[in-house]
Formats: sequence, structure tokens, C-alpha cells
Amino acid sequence: MQSFNEPPQQVIQIHPQAPDKPAWGSACNGCGVCCLAAPCPLGMLVSRRRQGACVALQWQPATAMYRCGMVLAPRQVVQALPRPWGWLLSCVARPLAWLARRWIAAGIGCDSTLEVAASNSLQNTPVDSTTSLSHHD
Ligand code: SF4
Ligand code: SF4
Repeated sequence: MQSFNEPPQQVIQIHPQAPDKPAWGSACNGCGVCCLAAPCPLGMLVSRRRQGACVALQWQPATAMYRCGMVLAPRQVVQALPRPWGWLLSCVARPLAWLARRWIAAGIGCDSTLEVAASNSLQNTPVDSTTSLSHHD
């Protein structure tokens, strides 16, 4: 049982080859933890939710890192969304893309204060493992 003094915990599914999350302020390495925990404001728009993994997050096998689909291919991301939402966003996909650049793998320091508490491989799920996060203010 979690005590009142402990930060809230969250379990995410993450690719087993994803790099470890660096410390806050270190160079972003595309670990994906921030976008798997909760979408950024732009991610909330495309994901239509405030919690959980962002639908725009994409795993890149060649580089073994996560990247933001709204930076890599915003039109593809919004065209995959259900209509009419995807159609509406496709009109503004390119202008929206710059909003995502501050959040993931954009050549800046990691701005996520999440702490990765543990990692366990899931049986029968070769592409995902579970990771427990601690939320700090
Ligand atoms: S900004 Fe997100 S993807 Fe980049 S290192 Fe930090 S937690 Fe990982
Ligand atoms: S940076 Fe991109 S992938 Fe991450 S939450 Fe924002 S829109 Fe989604």
C-alpha cells in the first residue's frame, strides 16, 4: 500500500530497448517516458485525452528511441485520427508541429521530473515492458 508521504505512482508500457531516462536537464535521449506518462498540450489535442500515452509518440527501431510524430510527420499523425477530428487538425498540422519541439528529442534538456522506479518485462508482449514512475512536482 502506498503511504501518504510517497509521490503518486504510475505504470507505463515502454519499449524494452528504449534508453534509460536521463536526469532532468540532461540532453533528451528519446526515452519516451514523458510522452508515455501523459501528453503535452499538443498531444492532448491529438490524443483527445489528458492522461496516458500520446497517440503521436512513435518508436524508431533504427535509432532505438522514441520521437514525436507531430515533429516527424504531423500530417500522417492527424490523418490517422478518427474523422472529423483528424480532418480538422490536418488543416493546421504543420503550424502545430513546432509546438511539439520543446517536449521530446528536440536537442534540448530533458524537462521531465518523472523518476523511473522499476522495470519488468511482460510475458507474451515482446515489444513492451512495464515501468513504474514516480511523479514529483
Ligand atoms: S524529454 Fe521526455 S523523451 Fe526526452 S529524455 Fe526527457 S523524458 Fe525522455
Ligand atoms: S511531444 Fe509529441 S509525442 Fe510527446 S506528448 Fe507532445 S505531441 Fe505527443
